[in-house]
Amino acid sequence: KPFIWKETAFSLLLPANDSLVLTRVPSSWPAVKGQHHWPKHYPFCGGAFQSPIDIRSELLRFDPTLQAIEVRNYNLSATEQLTLGNNGHSLQISLPSKMHISNLPHRYTAAQLHFHWGSSNRPAGSEHMVNSRQFAAEMHVVHFNSDKYPNISMAVDKSDGLAVLGVLIEVRSCGWVKWLPIFINDQRVQVPGFNIRALLPARLDEYYRYDGSLTTPPCYPSVLWTLFRNPVTISRKQLFKWYSSCAVLKMAQRLA
Ligand SMILES: [Zn+2]
Repeated sequence: KPFIWKETAFSLLLPANDSLVLTRVPSSWPAVKGQHHWPKHYPFCGGAFQSPIDIRSELLRFDPTLQAIEVRNYNLSATEQLTLGNNGHSLQISLPSKMHISNLPHRYTAAQLHFHWGSSNRPAGSEHMVNSRQFAAEMHVVHFNSDKYPNISMAVDKSDGLAVLGVLIEVRSCGWVKWLPIFINDQRVQVPGFNIRALLPARLDEYYRYDGSLTTPPCYPSVLWTLFRNPVTISRKQLFKWYSSCAVLKMAQRLA
């Protein structure tokens, strides 16, 4: 399959349903305890649609039918309280249902966003790779098909159930990865709303699109993946500013 790259053009498409050319990346997972047992306990794990993947430029196809992603109501006001917590393997922020993606075949309503990051001895923590390069961290904004399903629990195992926006993150100073995992399990705090759009790269018309799965068990093949081509770069200072009002951060700093 020819790789056509148009610098001025829109989006990129990974050939879906062509599992031969998609390189699944279990190599990014060893940090997850017992991961090699997943396929035994969770039949969908390790299947043809397993995410994440290594996005290799020679396997990409330009798809002129794809449009720039349109996000709606991502600019939240500070009066809206968001719940921030640690779901066990990542820092997660709940999102209000007015946030959605408007130009996919269905309306996909936002549910939560979360981060994947590395550890002090494994600083690169992104799930997806691009040409076998791993990034410092990765953010996932998880949406569910609200045209067909009443909530994310009903959508999570349906083939058209979820749409996730993935953002690769580069960190100018990588010290932050050390304290992020300190967030204590099940700890939940309220944080003021902010402009979630600012967490996405400037260009929403350059992305990799493929049909994939949840990246952790039960690995349902239910995710329409959009991984933005351009990473966002954040500094440790920015990240601290973000959570300056966050009690959890203060606790994390005490523990660090
Ligand atoms: Zn994720």
